[in-house]
Amino acid sequence: MKELDRSGYTKQRQAVLEVIRESHEHLTANEVFEDARKRLPGISFATVYNSLRYLKGEGLIGEVRFGSDTTRYDRNLDPHHHAICTECGRLADLELAIPPEVIKQAARRSKFKPGEIEFTLRGLCPECSG
Ligand SMILES: [Zn+2]
Ligand SMILES: [Zn+2]
Repeated sequence: MKELDRSGYTKQRQAVLEVIRESHEHLTANEVFEDARKRLPGISFATVYNSLRYLKGEGLIGEVRFGSDTTRYDRNLDPHHHAICTECGRLADLELAIPPEVIKQAARRSKFKPGEIEFTLRGLCPECSG
């Protein structure tokens, strides 16, 4: 796993990075702040927010955003898809191989030159459907 280099190393950034990496959820900036505060009392929201931007810029964390939804942060840096719960808003990683034929068809219909394709499943998570 890529690490912070010395110049980018601060206690705050390290704490924020740990929060993301130890979480199995896709946290919002607010949730990261709540957790970072337990590790580093006194850390401010602005510092957390700036750290998130820095870590994103360094390619140490990923960012997920759907429509007007708030940005969430992702420890999974490999290309992957997501499932969203329409009831509680839970976001889960989804490992799924998109058949090349689907990508070709999407390119043909949109007349776009294909880059990457992202699949989003919307539905009810196990808690909400159970
Ligand atoms: Zn749910
Ligand atoms: Zn993800």
